[in-house]
Amino acid sequence: ASGYSLLRDPRHNKGLAFTEKERDAHYLSGLLPPVVLSQQLQEKKLMNSIRQYQLPIQKYMAMMELEERNERLFYKLLIDNVEELLPVVYTPTVGEACQKYGSIFRRPQGLYISLKEKGRVLDVLKNWPERSIQVIVVTDGERILGLGDLGCQGMGIPVGKLSLYTALGGIRPSACLPITIDVGTNNEKLLNDEFYIGLKQRRATGQEYSELLHEFMSAVKQCYGEKVLIQFEDFANHNAFELLAKYRTSHLVFNDDIQGTASVVLSGVVSALKVLGGSLADHKFLFLGAGEAGTGIAELIALEMSKRTNTPLEECRKRIYLVDSKGLIVKSRFESLQHFKQPWAHDHEPVKTLLEAVNALKPTVLIGASGMGKTFTKEVVEAMSSFNERPLIMALSNPTSQAECTAEEAYSWSKGKAIFASGSPFDPVEYEGKVFVPGQGNNAYIFPGFGLGVVMSGAIRVHDDMLLAASEALAEQVTDAEYEKGLIYPPFSKIRKISAEIAAKVAAKAYELGLASRLPRPANLVKYAESCMYSPVYRNYR
Ligand code: NAP
Ligand code: MN
Repeated sequence: ASGYSLLRDPRHNKGLAFTEKERDAHYLSGLLPPVVLSQQLQEKKLMNSIRQYQLPIQKYMAMMELEERNERLFYKLLIDNVEELLPVVYTPTVGEACQKYGSIFRRPQGLYISLKEKGRVLDVLKNWPERSIQVIVVTDGERILGLGDLGCQGMGIPVGKLSLYTALGGIRPSACLPITIDVGTNNEKLLNDEFYIGLKQRRATGQEYSELLHEFMSAVKQCYGEKVLIQFEDFANHNAFELLAKYRTSHLVFNDDIQGTASVVLSGVVSALKVLGGSLADHKFLFLGAGEAGTGIAELIALEMSKRTNTPLEECRKRIYLVDSKGLIVKSRFESLQHFKQPWAHDHEPVKTLLEAVNALKPTVLIGASGMGKTFTKEVVEAMSSFNERPLIMALSNPTSQAECTAEEAYSWSKGKAIFASGSPFDPVEYEGKVFVPGQGNNAYIFPGFGLGVVMSGAIRVHDDMLLAASEALAEQVTDAEYEKGLIYPPFSKIRKISAEIAAKVAAKAYELGLASRLPRPANLVKYAESCMYSPVYRNYR
């Protein structure tokens, strides 16, 4: 290839870091100014310039431009500055980016499959330049973060998630494929926007929807084989549960909103037991939100409880209550409940509000997964702290604007008693002279390492025990010093090591269950995981 095209190929471009020798050998002389910079200096320069932007969305765009220009440098920045840049390429900023995707859209990223492609989805997949794909993240844009239906503009999510698969989990960028399935949108604002990038029609449902999805699922297998991990992301819950149930026995599928969230939250709960005291089964859980996240978490907690105590799952479920938009989920509502809520319809009189439910049930753990901000009110937090020495409060909804309460609110309303974690990051809070560091209960801890474990073992199916293994691996990474600060999750700065540990435990479980196809099993799975991980350091071109 000519030097000119080398500079325009983000996968190979090194910009000013091309050495004299490389410039001579690859026809680059004169195409670059004379100076040669190291990758470290390039990184420093770019971090300086990103820090100068005031608005997070400007930082986001600068990062996306970098990814389009120089992929390795993009990942070098992301890996070395993960705590600073995670909120830029992921929640909360990615939410704003999706809302504005139409106007910030420059160059298409990922693959768009719309109703127009029905009948030829396989051909569309074949247009993607890479052949050996290991992870696909796919959305239909109907429930983007807590922001609702963003239609085709949801593409920001698969793109962002996959950059974390690479940066945090070490999956090669070329093995990642972001996909948006466009079946229309019910978002009036987008339908009336002349610059909207998607199909201007209401969402297809029923048979038309499931046929397109089925064609997609079959085409993926045909194109990339059995061992590509398909992560469903930000589908509305009616489709999410159905797709997972339908394809989990025939494909390697993972729903991050249901399963990833469940795994990360279970990990936080298990880890918090060190501070809270008691065993998992001693605690009582109340959820606000009974959708993908809420019921997914509840089910995994019940499963872990059941394994730990050798008690039937149904018994364990009784320690977990959920509130949805209509109030506490109870027996009398059974007939009108969506099927995924039915296991949680317990014997209890009807309760309308969260506050009433808190007072009636006196839970030790309160988990918000409602997508509805400001719902953990002062009264709710005060009630939780009135009957608990240390209430565990998790406000998981994203982005920040949708958090059930802020870190500041949790600490001040509980008078410093609450152990708090949130889905989107909050800064440390000083309350009465003590600094509290809020933990981030975010899937980003789990899915990258989980995916690496699945890929490196050649797993052919996802089993719930693999999610439990991931939870356990994450909880084990929290140190005493971190517990001291009020943390129940380790800092993201250690994420590559954490991902390797998670990958190893997930892979070990896959081998144990007979689901792993990569044989023989590597003896040291942590070392093996580390050796599989993508490094963003420049290659030398001869
Ligand atoms: P979902 O399936 O749409 O579920 C939302 C649930 O919240 C539904 O049960 C809904 O009730 C309930 N709800 C809505 N408004 C409510 C209100 N005012 N009072 C009580 N309940 C209310 O969505 P999801 O996938 O579970 O996601 C929910 C949120 O969790 C989103 O903001 C998402 O970003 C966040 N999340 C965070 C993480 C993380 O890593 N921290 C991971 C996944 C999801 P009905 O069923 O009655 O409609
Ligand atoms: Mn999601």
